[in-house]
Amino acid sequence: MTQARPPSLRCSAMAEKPDLSRRGFLARGLAAASATMLGGCEESSDKRSAETMGKEVTLFVCGDVMLGRGIDQILPFPSEPTLSEPVASLAVDYVRYAESINGPISRPSPFGYVWGDALADLHAARPNATIVNLETSITKSKNPAPKLWNYKMSPANIDCIKVANVDCCVLANNHVLDWGVKGLLETLSTLEGKDVAVAGAGANRNEAAAPAIIDTDGDRRVVVYGFAATTSGVPGAWAATNTSPGVNLLPSLSRGTAVKVARRIAASRRRDDIVVVSIHWGSNWGYRVDKRHRAFAHTLIDAGACDLLHGHSSHHPLGIEIYRGRPILYGCGDFINDYEGSGMEDYERYRGDLSIGYLVRFGNDRALTELALLPYQMRRFQLHSASEIDIAWLQSTLDRESMRFGTRIILRGSQLNIVPQ
Ligand SMILES: [Zn+2]
Repeated sequence: MTQARPPSLRCSAMAEKPDLSRRGFLARGLAAASATMLGGCEESSDKRSAETMGKEVTLFVCGDVMLGRGIDQILPFPSEPTLSEPVASLAVDYVRYAESINGPISRPSPFGYVWGDALADLHAARPNATIVNLETSITKSKNPAPKLWNYKMSPANIDCIKVANVDCCVLANNHVLDWGVKGLLETLSTLEGKDVAVAGAGANRNEAAAPAIIDTDGDRRVVVYGFAATTSGVPGAWAATNTSPGVNLLPSLSRGTAVKVARRIAASRRRDDIVVVSIHWGSNWGYRVDKRHRAFAHTLIDAGACDLLHGHSSHHPLGIEIYRGRPILYGCGDFINDYEGSGMEDYERYRGDLSIGYLVRFGNDRALTELALLPYQMRRFQLHSASEIDIAWLQSTLDRESMRFGTRIILRGSQLNIVPQ
């Protein structure tokens, strides 16, 4: 299930970080430190910051992790498979679609199977925090919400998330309520029961808006805020209210909303926190980045309210911007899904079968010191290290799409580097 990656990659303009970059395709974010981006800080946090200087923080983030439907069917404890979709009546049909393209998938598969080569890369990188957008409900409910596609994973398969040491599941997306409020509450309790932090959904508005806080070595915190925008297809009715469960839905993508969000985050952050703002926004296909998304991200960064913008919803990766030293991942793309062979022919040019894991390293002053992109291909419901041909395709595609944001992705031999222009 594993294959060797190409040699390690380097960015000449940045300090050498041999541990991280030893593995395969890797890109470096080249970014000037931005020392002027702090919000209000308490005195006590200033003292802690001084004490913890020198502690780097490495994050692993990725886009949609869809462990429901067909994926759930190959795990040790599959859900009852009935679907009410126009193209499939059983979740196991998605397993058959994948098998018709790439060959048989053993059932049951171990919990680590779907993560494939990414597990070894995660182990090697040893990130301080692993953050995913969990694009499914975790529930035994048999009452789907009235929509076209309803994803669920059995709570008994929760170890499929634990096996990858996921620290935080962002839940502000258009599938977490696929099985209604009951399904959302079961998702929350299942993750809580396994000590997986959540962001972006909750039992009421305050809980949905509350950040996940991940303590790292040296008392530095990774603080994750989860938001959804209706541009990703999240229904307005899914918004959490003062008295009802739901997602942390942005009322708009206007500058006014961005300023409010930024002020709230900046006012509560500590000086040495690494703040991740995770937003489910935009359509599933196409490279165009909504101007409102860019303006929203810039406003947060200008206010010192975002060290990493973790965008998702697109089924394929979008361009990357390094703005004032802060990475904006406009769309991380799907990481794990069951779409293999299931009629996405119209979108083949986007290569939705290719996935990227993003390793982001911050130095002691919160400056970005490294951005590594780990590419995989989903085959037989498993992540495989991407081939050199596919890496080259990703380089040229992401370079083209990042160029408009002043960022280049350059292939040198087997190396891929991110370089702001
Ligand atoms: Zn989505």
